[in-house]
Amino acid sequence: MARYQAPRGTQDILPEDQAYWQWVLGLAREIAARYGFQPIEVPVFEDTEVFARGVGTGTDIVEKEMYTFEDRGGRSLTLRPEFTAGIVRAYIEHGMYVWPQPVKVYAIGPVFRYEAPQAGRYRQHTQFSCECIGEADPVADFEIMSIAWDLYAALGFEGVQFQLNSIGCPRCRPPYIRDVLVPYLQSRIAELSKLDVERLRKNPLRVLDTKEPESQPVVAEAPAITEYLCTECRDHFAQLRFYLDMLERPYEINPRLVRGLDYYTKTVFEVTAPGLGAQNAVGGGGRYDGLVEVLGGPPTPGVGFAAGIERIVLVLKAQGITPPPLPYPQVYFVHHGSPAKDAAVAMADRLRHCGIGALVAFGNRSLKSQLRHASKVGVRYVVIIGEEELARGEVQVKDLQTGQQTAVLQAELVKWFQNLFAQHPTP
Ligand code: AMP
Repeated sequence: MARYQAPRGTQDILPEDQAYWQWVLGLAREIAARYGFQPIEVPVFEDTEVFARGVGTGTDIVEKEMYTFEDRGGRSLTLRPEFTAGIVRAYIEHGMYVWPQPVKVYAIGPVFRYEAPQAGRYRQHTQFSCECIGEADPVADFEIMSIAWDLYAALGFEGVQFQLNSIGCPRCRPPYIRDVLVPYLQSRIAELSKLDVERLRKNPLRVLDTKEPESQPVVAEAPAITEYLCTECRDHFAQLRFYLDMLERPYEINPRLVRGLDYYTKTVFEVTAPGLGAQNAVGGGGRYDGLVEVLGGPPTPGVGFAAGIERIVLVLKAQGITPPPLPYPQVYFVHHGSPAKDAAVAMADRLRHCGIGALVAFGNRSLKSQLRHASKVGVRYVVIIGEEELARGEVQVKDLQTGQQTAVLQAELVKWFQNLFAQHPTP
C-alpha cells in the first residue's frame, strides 16, 4: 500500500506545535476584541466571481493561484485565497450596511493559494484577518495597524518593521499611472526584466514591487505615487501618519509598496519580521474603499489587515520565544492488581470532575513499566495504588521531581491535590 503524504504545500500542525498556535490565536482574539472586533465565520469556498471580482483579474492570485473547481451542480467555486472578499460578500448579503457603522469583524482560518511551496510559503496557510467596513476616518486605518502592532508586540517579536504607502484612489491613481509611471517605465523598458515588461502591459503598478533583480535600478528611481495624490488622499495619509507619530509607532514610507490585490485604495502597509528569510512578511493590509461596490453593495469604505499564522510561529521559533504550555494532566495513576486498577479508574474520574487532569495507566503492565510511561509523558505526580494501599484506604503520591512520597487517604485525594495546586499552580 502506498504511504500517503499531506499534499504538497500543506502541513500538519502536530500537538507539539499547538502551544504556539493556541497562544498566537488567543492573543489575536483578545487584541481584536479590545478594539471592538467581533468574530465572523465565512465559507471556505465561494462563487469564483466573488474572488475574481473582489481580488481583481490581473492579480497573481486570480490569474495563477486560485483553487477553482466545478461542483456536481456545474457551479464554479473557489477555495478562498484570502478573507476580505468573502467577508464583504457577507456584509452585503446580510445588509450589514444598515447596522451601526463601521462593522468590525475578524476571522481566523485556512486560505488556499497555488503557489510554489518553500519555507514560509504554503498552498494552505492560516490567516487572522480583521476588517473594519463602513468607515473612512484615518483613525480606522490607525486602529487596524495598531492591532497588528499590538499582536507582534504581545508575542515579543524583535525587529518588526512596518512599511507604509498610499496608492491613491480612482481619482488620482489612474492619471499617475497613465501620465507618470507608464511613460517613465516605457522610457527605461530595455532595462526591465521580461516579466516586468509583461506587467507593464497588464498591471503597471505591480512593476513597482517587483522582486526581479534586473528591474531594481529602474523602480528605485520611479516617481513616487505619494507625490501625485489628490487632496483627499494626501490629507488621509497625513492624518494617518499624524496618529502613528503621536503614538510612537515606528514605520517606514515605502513608495514602492503596492501589494498584490486590486482593491486597495489609499493606505497599504506590510509588516516584516527577521527570522523568515525571503518570505518575511508576517502581515499586511490596507484600505479598500471600492470593494463593497465592486461586489454589488452600496459605496462603502473599508480597511483591513491579515496576518499569516504559520509565519508568526516560524518567527517565534527563530527568535527563541516560547509560548506558555498548554494544560496537560499532572497526575498519573499506577496500579497493581485488578481491584486497585478499578479504584484508580474511579479516583481519576473523580479528580477530572473536580477540575484536575488525570491519567490512568492502561492495561496491566508491571509497576515499573507504568512508572516509566508516567515519566515519559511528563507528569509530575504519580499516584500508586497496590493491594496494601487499597486495604488501608490509602494511596502513595510520589512527586517525580523531588522524589518525595506521601501517604494520602483516598477519600481526601481530591482535596489534597486541590491544596497542592493552589500553592503550586501547574499548566
Ligand atoms: P496577503 O493577503 O498576501 O497580504 O497575506 C497576508 C499574510 O498572510 C502575509 O503577510 C503572510 O504572513 C501570510 N501569507 C500569505 N501568503 C502565504 C503563503 N503562501 N504561505 C504562508 N503564509 C502566507
